[in-house]
Amino acid sequence: MLDGLIIRSSSIHAAGCYTRRAVKKGQRVCEYEGPRFTKEEADERYKDRFITYLFSCGEDGTVIDGFGTAMFINHSCDPNCETEEEDGRIYVKAIRNIAPGEELTYEYNLHDSDDEPGDCYCGAPQCRGTMFSEEEVKRRAKKVRAAARRKAARQ
Ligand SMILES: [Zn+2]
Repeated sequence: MLDGLIIRSSSIHAAGCYTRRAVKKGQRVCEYEGPRFTKEEADERYKDRFITYLFSCGEDGTVIDGFGTAMFINHSCDPNCETEEEDGRIYVKAIRNIAPGEELTYEYNLHDSDDEPGDCYCGAPQCRGTMFSEEEVKRRAKKVRAAARRKAARQ
């Protein structure tokens, strides 16, 4: 993890992760660390919990149950970081130069979460209003249309 990261209250959501030092574009700021589960194990473990910090990793459906600094990084539709995977580990990397005092953010691109609304309040001018990935937004819209058709057919 990069020196100078701090967790404090955020205007985006509860707590956020800020940098006290300048971060250069391309620099890794921290690793998304935590115990790993299969998707099934994680679903079972967290079926009653509303807020989770699970990060899907790799093709095999492994999820990382985030703890530590990375889980405090908020979503933004105009992020200054992105996540990258290397050898099954997830790193948060700056995608532009970041000034001291800025909050670190990346796009969550949420998917596969049927009960949470995932609304976004990041305040970026280009805010998409959702933390879901574009594919997930399309998938959900399709589901809503299908449900409406089923309802119409019943009437
Ligand atoms: Zn947003």
